[in-house]
Amino acid sequence: MEGAVPQSAWLLALQVLYPLRPPCYFHPMPYEVTASRKRPQSFEQLAGQDFVAATLEKSLQTGRIAHAYLFSGPRGCGKTSTARILAKALNCESGPTPHPCGACDSCKAIAAGSSFDVIEIDGASNTSVDNVRQIKDEVLFPPNSSKYKIYIIDEVHMLSTSAFNALLKTIEEPPPYVVFMFATTEQHKVPATIKSRCQQFTFRLVNAETIVGLLGQAAKEMGVKAEEEALLWIARESGGSVRDAYTLFDQVVSFADGEISAALIRDKLGLVGQDRMNALFGRFANGDTPGALEDLDTILSSGVSSEQFIVDTVEYCRALLLVKNGITKESLLGAPLSAFDLSISEALDVEKIERLLSVFLASYRTLKDSIDPRYELDLAVAKASHISDYISPGELSRAVRTLRQALGAGISPSPGFGPRQTSARTAPSGKAPPSGAAPSTFQDRPSTSTAKAAAMAYPQTPQASQNFQTPVPTQEAPHAPPSQVELKKYLVGEIRKSNILLATTLDKSTDWKLGGSSVSLVATSAMEYDLLKRFVGIVAELIAKRYGVSLRVDIESPQASSHASAPSLEFPPAKPSASNAEGNKDKEAIGLVERLFKGSVVGYVAPGGAPAVHPKTLSPPAVPDDEDRPDPMDLTD
Ligand SMILES: [Zn+2]
Repeated sequence: MEGAVPQSAWLLALQVLYPLRPPCYFHPMPYEVTASRKRPQSFEQLAGQDFVAATLEKSLQTGRIAHAYLFSGPRGCGKTSTARILAKALNCESGPTPHPCGACDSCKAIAAGSSFDVIEIDGASNTSVDNVRQIKDEVLFPPNSSKYKIYIIDEVHMLSTSAFNALLKTIEEPPPYVVFMFATTEQHKVPATIKSRCQQFTFRLVNAETIVGLLGQAAKEMGVKAEEEALLWIARESGGSVRDAYTLFDQVVSFADGEISAALIRDKLGLVGQDRMNALFGRFANGDTPGALEDLDTILSSGVSSEQFIVDTVEYCRALLLVKNGITKESLLGAPLSAFDLSISEALDVEKIERLLSVFLASYRTLKDSIDPRYELDLAVAKASHISDYISPGELSRAVRTLRQALGAGISPSPGFGPRQTSARTAPSGKAPPSGAAPSTFQDRPSTSTAKAAAMAYPQTPQASQNFQTPVPTQEAPHAPPSQVELKKYLVGEIRKSNILLATTLDKSTDWKLGGSSVSLVATSAMEYDLLKRFVGIVAELIAKRYGVSLRVDIESPQASSHASAPSLEFPPAKPSASNAEGNKDKEAIGLVERLFKGSVVGYVAPGGAPAVHPKTLSPPAVPDDEDRPDPMDLTD
């Protein structure tokens, strides 16, 4: 308060020095803010409240004037303006009329706020019962020079309960010349007893197009050039309140120097801007984490605040969602559709966009409690750039449902996601004979003296067999090169001893081709393909054991048998034969569980309770082919 004393003294001194000049001498250029300059003066000028205007006009035409009106709605939508227009309409010298002249003494006095018969009371600062008693006393005196004595009480919900009670009787049976007009932003705080005695009008937020029109008109009147995009931004920022829009407009005009552009607003007010948002979300869609973090750094370095960054990203996500839902209206998107990079909305599905939205909304909530807001932003951006790995709960539940159906009906599902099925050409590894130790073709296979010479010529190097490190039985000499049928029969027979499932699958496989250094076969379904691929080592081992050669075993998936390297996400339904339909169902279910939950088979238990066979005792499971795929659950908070 100490600072106020010299200032008052200073003003006092000036007033003494210049007694004829009022203190407003210090504002030689009277400036009226746009909001009050553009205040509507008639029902026609009342923007965005067509229903209210039409109803009031009609009631004035028919002479049905209520004792009390309650105008409720968001701030800056025209409640007080409507009350003043209605007051003019009632008290105009040619009234009551829906079209007050605006030229008579009464109209002029009301517009200037100096009419003796229109009393404006701020409910927020006159809350007590005494204030209301004063009104009750005054009401007894008829209007000075007009037809009606009008009380406009703003923010009426601020009145105390006793004040409301004191007012009740007056509102219910006022003298015929008194009209009450209440305005409130919080209708629910007005007692029902008051509401029921009033004609109620609910005001709405004004849409962006209407506000842009009003702002454009204001700019024209002021001789200011204004870009449509800039006005749209102001309109959206104001959230549907005309007064807020005018206030922000004045602020922008003050730094715009005669020309309002979107770029200028972006620079001066520290906004991210559409181009930078397109670039950032492009990086999210492409999983470019370093690029996204660099973009964030650039944006923050340019003076955009942490909060503003999040607000803008959230706005962008919202716009993407709207675009996804086919909405192209500029006022809803916040920018023309052409300003959006549509490849982003194509790359991200709705669930991923919703996920992005929730990531940024969550980081906004934690921003205030954070050690450093920058950490929160880095974290949010890093999370967002992994969005392509995100599996939504909906997607997961769909997959589980598919699994259930597959288990129940034995139908091979077509999962929409999961580890990608890659090349079927898996060479035996682990316990397969090392290539340096065992020959890799039948041609260069070492032979014993008992080996029959067949179509393939064997070099006669008997010593080589001693170098084998694989469990080649010493008492059993390597067999002659088999035919495809023989090889299949032998392998199925051997594997059946330890793993019936694998043996059955192998038996069902088709298109066996025995080449010089490899054997290839085609699995009959995706599930069987997975299983065979996993145990390809066992097959190679058995071949080495019996024939003394290390062959590459190529398993081909059914649809990729023409070119085995083509990855595929779609699995054709299996065609289980009558005899092994049950087995197929089990295998398919196991394969699906493996893909969905990224698991691996650790053993089998026969339905009858037979002892489990641990496949690891035979061969290590194949290495999952998607090691580098980040865990989608990492994205969850
Ligand atoms: Zn008039």
